[in-house]
Amino acid sequence: MPEPLLIKNGTIVTWEPDASLIEGGAVYVEDGLIAEIGQQTVLESKYPGVDVLDARGQLIMPGNICAHTHFYGAFARGMAIPGPAPKDFPQILERLWWPLDQALDEEAVRYSALVCLVDAVKHGTTTLIDHHASPNALEGSLDVIADAVGEAGLRAVLCYEVTDRYGPEKTQAAIDENVRFIKAAADRENIAATFGLHASLTLNKDTLAACADAGRALDTGFHIHVAEHESDEYDSLNRSGKRVVDRLHDAGILGPKTITAHAVHVDLREAEILRETGTWVTHQPRSNMNNAVGAADVDGMLRLGIPVCLGNDGFSNNMWADWKTAYLLHKVWNHDPRRANGMNIAQMGVYNNTALARVFFPDAPPGLLVPGAAADLMLVDYHPTTPLTMGNLPWHIIFGFEASMVTSTIVGGKVLMHDRELLTLDEAAITARARAIVPGVWARYEAFVQEVL
Ligand SMILES: [Zn+2]
Repeated sequence: MPEPLLIKNGTIVTWEPDASLIEGGAVYVEDGLIAEIGQQTVLESKYPGVDVLDARGQLIMPGNICAHTHFYGAFARGMAIPGPAPKDFPQILERLWWPLDQALDEEAVRYSALVCLVDAVKHGTTTLIDHHASPNALEGSLDVIADAVGEAGLRAVLCYEVTDRYGPEKTQAAIDENVRFIKAAADRENIAATFGLHASLTLNKDTLAACADAGRALDTGFHIHVAEHESDEYDSLNRSGKRVVDRLHDAGILGPKTITAHAVHVDLREAEILRETGTWVTHQPRSNMNNAVGAADVDGMLRLGIPVCLGNDGFSNNMWADWKTAYLLHKVWNHDPRRANGMNIAQMGVYNNTALARVFFPDAPPGLLVPGAAADLMLVDYHPTTPLTMGNLPWHIIFGFEASMVTSTIVGGKVLMHDRELLTLDEAAITARARAIVPGVWARYEAFVQEVL
């Protein structure tokens, strides 16, 4: 456990709904938790002699949470997709992500995670809910990722995607990897696990049933892509005569521990089932725009009471980029500047992400700067030129914040970055090793993609 720490001389953003900003504030951290928040003068005299981190007038905020990401996709950056450009999301899966996941060996799994973790620390993203695939480096892959997260000092929820794409042996191995790791994660600090499923369109009836049984025995939820593109709905109707959410509900996959990513093409009854079952939905606007899959009705889902969260789907771990994209996307998509109000963005990016993280870290939940919460914090070097209040903070983030303003990142009271200097990860060494191994990954990708061209 890190030493007690007094973070002083900052403006505190607690994100508590009715709280005010605390200027001249300090945060006292002990045993990895927020112990006390208050005026600097009071806390300084109360806790003399402890280690001090001077925020020098910056904002002291909870770290960001990413509700859905894919570390394994890191090496797609700059990679050429052979042949004509994919025309739709199914072709993007077939020609980009599925050949790439097959190309990963164990070292590539480790380094794709590490480069994302460097990026997360630099952007103040302190909790990441990852969805992993590496069918040719499957067994133990979640331990490889968990070790990397441990080295970084971040917090993560991990799973391995079960799919029928690579035959029954790999399907069983993926189920076994989830079961094994869900048990093993209990002994790891700052790591939790859930049961990964790719998507309805690559899961047959027997596989879904086997996963539901295994998940029930472990009292775990699932993490699955849902209705990201119309093809997921068409496939489900062909397979089962049911839409995706109905099919997953009937299979026992949904519930208050289950995360469904995207939900772009769900119909009204599917939305109602998601609400009735307390299932989480994650919204990834940068990904949805990039894949041209459309825009989920996030305002409508929030109004219905569905806990919609915000993820990045493997885009940069600068969560404010997804804040800004969500804010813009729904306006243009609906031709209505009232859509995706800043408060709705904060509802997803802060409050619902925090509530989701609490499912996995109930004893010391991250996301809010309140006593008893995990001391997962960032310092943001933002000096507003207009009045800043809790009430208008979402618009300051959307129109004023830049990722480069994050100067320090703390998880569980441990400082991971101070004044832009990384303290746990060696960025230069990680970058150099990634650059050395990626040509091999790309060459293997080329071989796999030829099979589907
Ligand atoms: Zn995804």
